[in-house]
Amino acid sequence: MDSMKNQYDCVVVGGGPAGATTAALVAEKGIQTLLVEREKMPRFHVGESLMPETYWSLERLGVLDKLQNGMFTKKNGVQFVNHEGKESQPFFFRDADDRECADTLHVQRGEFDKVLFDNASEKGATCFDQTRVLNITLNDSGLHQVTLRDREGHEVTVETKMVVDASGQQAMISSNMKTKEVDPHLKKAAIWTYFKDARRNSSSEPEVTAILHTNSKKCWFWYIPLSDDTVSVGVVSDNDYLLKGRGTPEQTFHDEWQQCVGIKNRLQDAKQVGKFHVAKEFSYKSRQVAGEGWVLVGDAYGFIDPIYSSGVFLALKSGEMAADAIIAGFENGDLSGEQLGSWREPFEAGVVWIRKLVDAFYTPEFSFGEFMKAYPQHRTNLTDLLVGKVFEGEPGRMFTDMDPWIASLGENSDETMTASVSS
Ligand SMILES: Cc1cc2nc3c(=O)[nH]c(=O)nc-3n(C[C@H](O)[C@H](O)[C@H](O)COP(=O)(O)OP(=O)(O)OC[C@H]3O[C@@H](n4cnc5c(N)ncnc54)[C@H](O)[C@@H]3O)c2cc1C
Repeated sequence: MDSMKNQYDCVVVGGGPAGATTAALVAEKGIQTLLVEREKMPRFHVGESLMPETYWSLERLGVLDKLQNGMFTKKNGVQFVNHEGKESQPFFFRDADDRECADTLHVQRGEFDKVLFDNASEKGATCFDQTRVLNITLNDSGLHQVTLRDREGHEVTVETKMVVDASGQQAMISSNMKTKEVDPHLKKAAIWTYFKDARRNSSSEPEVTAILHTNSKKCWFWYIPLSDDTVSVGVVSDNDYLLKGRGTPEQTFHDEWQQCVGIKNRLQDAKQVGKFHVAKEFSYKSRQVAGEGWVLVGDAYGFIDPIYSSGVFLALKSGEMAADAIIAGFENGDLSGEQLGSWREPFEAGVVWIRKLVDAFYTPEFSFGEFMKAYPQHRTNLTDLLVGKVFEGEPGRMFTDMDPWIASLGENSDETMTASVSS
């Protein structure tokens, strides 16, 4: 293993998908890169359902073979189940695009992220896990200082021209600079755990991520079949509804499970494995994405909502786009904030469509099923968005009809989440 030097061209903080992507692509160009991760890899992480458009980043990274070797379960589509337990016709990705990239994976994030972390090392980055960044001192002129606690517990300060903050929800730089803004309309929380012997399709059948509403429509569950006969099951709702004045997260999870026909059916013979996990108020964005010699990627820049499983996709994509800006910056001797953040506009131009879809999902009285009945011509467009095709073509076509449809629903609806997709 490499030893730690006291100077690098580029230091990447955080060994998740965003950090490992940036580190791999930058290091591949011969830029001296250090990637540090505080946990021991592989480490546990939420976010197991991928979007098909991750394919292109994973292909560029050269890791498709390693990921498609049967270690993970396939994901062929998305299925929505309404509050009465009515199961929609799944949105199969292949219906919109028949190429190899159409199908994606349900992954154990520990294993998935480890493949990307190791790949960064193979591409030339110096990678250390169990190495926590304690402090980042940014200097507008001269080198930045990154102070770490290494595996042996020693404090080490590393100097660098370029810092990439990929620290996920920790969002080290934006928290420090107070540029992190929690989305007031998406103050959600999640409680999740894992089960064995739950209902799942046979290996020859298509496999989907299911999104299921509870009877009260106040919550939705995710149901993600993983390999090793495990399913990931989580409940999401408004932060206050889920976590305030309701007893333990475990009790709340059980109460909502009893309120969800689709989950009750699926978990009939299941045994819980592992503990309960809680995440709260996870939707936010930094007002600033880059500055002199630094840039934010993945969740360290922003995160929307887990409903469409866009987190890993956007982490990979922002990692890739930021890496290109860094590489061009080194080539041209320009590591200004303008150069390093030059990808923000095209990135946001794609993310806006996912955000609009999230807003539609949480709009009282809106039903994707009803909308699709009225506008069947938009089914391919909707499937495209569920796939993650937001950075090409005309991803926002259907909103010319969906925006007025939602506006016409009026404001006298109740406060529950009533979105449902049935066909
Ligand atoms: C409830 C919930 C459900 C989700 N479900 C999905 C889903 O189904 N599909 C999906 O695609 N996405 C999902 N996501 C989002 C997904 O988990 C994230 O978007 C994704 O992990 C972001 O990748 P990242 O590399 O930016 O950050 P992370 O994957 O969080 O990686 C950041 C890394 O930085 C490390 N780190 C932090 N601080 C330091 C430090 N000081 N020093 C060194 N290392 C540090 C952390 O240990 C971590 O490994 C979900 C999120 C939530 C909250």
